[in-house]
Amino acid sequence: MKIIDNIGEIRSLADNVRKRGLLIGFVPTMGALHDGHISLVRAAKKQCGFVVVSVFVNPAQFGPNEDFNSYPRTLENDCKICRAAGVDAVFTPAARQMYPQEQMIWVEPEGLSDCLCGRSRPGHFRGVATVCAKLFNIIQPDIAFFGQKDAQQALIIRRMVDDLNMPLKIEVCPTIRENDGLAMSSRNRYLTAEQRKFAPLLYAALQECELLIAQGIRDAAFLIEQMKAMIEQCPLFAVEYIEIVDAGTLKKADNISGKVLVALAARLGQARLIDNIILDIEKM
Ligand code: AMP
Repeated sequence: MKIIDNIGEIRSLADNVRKRGLLIGFVPTMGALHDGHISLVRAAKKQCGFVVVSVFVNPAQFGPNEDFNSYPRTLENDCKICRAAGVDAVFTPAARQMYPQEQMIWVEPEGLSDCLCGRSRPGHFRGVATVCAKLFNIIQPDIAFFGQKDAQQALIIRRMVDDLNMPLKIEVCPTIRENDGLAMSSRNRYLTAEQRKFAPLLYAALQECELLIAQGIRDAAFLIEQMKAMIEQCPLFAVEYIEIVDAGTLKKADNISGKVLVALAARLGQARLIDNIILDIEKM
């Protein structure tokens, strides 16, 4: 497995791979890898002859009061995990490689970004879209793999690729969870043992919502109230949002129908946790 921190080198490696006729699968990450990330690697290996994982904590997607400085950086272990998973190359550029001069041109999502996580993280999806565009241009993968856990991000990146005619496919893979339902996340490391005990309440609330919908309830406000009450049983949580929106447009509706995204974000101690499920209401 190659470990590369330089844009020129990863470009020429990818060029050579392409010349050998192999499809390039790409998994962008911020490191502190866990089984969620590795599920994306597995999906990539199924479809592609060469798999690149990037490990880059992208400063452009963090707000001034967010956790850029404290974000876990575990490169040595990440490389071990990647090697064991059969990754072919890890691209791990320094910030000055990716942003050698003041960035003047950005990819600015206009739709899809002013709701859910975008509301409390202004500029976040501009940072995400821009770094993904840069990484796609550097590596030129055939398929890039993203997790459903970051549903809004996956939707925005899909749309960026469509709207800007980028020549790659985006695959979105299911959320991988701990045994008790907590969605795996690099930020789970911030949880104390006490907080960790309550963290599965987020997914439990989503499951409760699914159950109520299966029983015929379609009133979004009522469903949201039920989820909020369930999470706030534990005073350690500060709920940021709980929303039920159209899974394609992220628009809210009073009475839910079609394919919906039930998404939430909450703070638990130092960690800002997000989770979601997608439900096809007509099939329930
Ligand atoms: P991150 O390192 O958190 O930026 O995540 C990198 C990629 O891994 C993104 O596409 C995430 O959606 C995906 N990912 C993170 N956690 C999970 C999970 N629990 N299950 C599936 N994919 C995940």
